[in-house]
Amino acid sequence: MKVTDHVHAIKIPFAVPTRFVYLYFIYGKKICLVDSGIASAKEKIFGYLRETGRDPQEIQLLVQTHSHADHIGLSAEIKKISGCKVAAHVAEKNWIEDIEEQYRERPTPTFRSYVQDSTKIDLVVKDGDVLDLGGGENLKVIHTPGHSTGSISFVYPTDGALFSGDAIPLAGGLPIYADVFVTIQSLKKLKAVKGWKALFSSWHDPIQGEKVYQTMDEALAYMQKVHGVVRQENAGAPSLDAQALTIRVLKVLGIPENLASPIVVTTIEAHRQAGQHPDIL
Ligand SMILES: [Zn+2]
Repeated sequence: MKVTDHVHAIKIPFAVPTRFVYLYFIYGKKICLVDSGIASAKEKIFGYLRETGRDPQEIQLLVQTHSHADHIGLSAEIKKISGCKVAAHVAEKNWIEDIEEQYRERPTPTFRSYVQDSTKIDLVVKDGDVLDLGGGENLKVIHTPGHSTGSISFVYPTDGALFSGDAIPLAGGLPIYADVFVTIQSLKKLKAVKGWKALFSSWHDPIQGEKVYQTMDEALAYMQKVHGVVRQENAGAPSLDAQALTIRVLKVLGIPENLASPIVVTTIEAHRQAGQHPDIL
């Protein structure tokens, strides 16, 4: 789906109903790809390029918002076909270059079906870096940690677009971040930038206009809500282990308890550890 003058969005559904990930193409003289989706999306991605008159070999740059399986699933294949350069933050490099290491350290149930191979990173990028897209266009890097240590967002000034990966939690959705304060700081950092015209997040449908800032406000409010629920449930039963606390919290939030995977338990435990810290209340 074409969203702005140059940005095209591809929605990739997961096997779990209602869950999905987005990846984005920036169509210029060459093509830049933001994240690569999951392995099963191959035909959808390449098919979209051909339907819109482009070719996978035109992909010049693949930028990774972070290393999680649903963002790197096809990276190795795309690099092989197109010869593109792949960019990521140094803190995500190992988990992209060695998927076995990622699986050992973050064994998500769907990992094996989402990602097929490791991918060598060509460009290690950091906050403030500018990547040349050719034709006088560029992509700027903003470090937005919290969901993961090396999560980065990308700014495409030509269309006033922000690509945020998983840095902005989905209000009402499954909370997944490694660090509560740092996620909030990253959200505030993105919100402080004026002039966003479009937000391309991996777990929101594309957002345009004033809804961009509204979405960031909703994410902050949701994190505060989750924090309040964690504190309330923990106060009622402080001896609960992290798994049991997570199930209680998800129930209050109206989220099915079978979604209490280890990464969600980690998030809820991070809220419990954050306690009454003034920065979050
Ligand atoms: Zn992620």
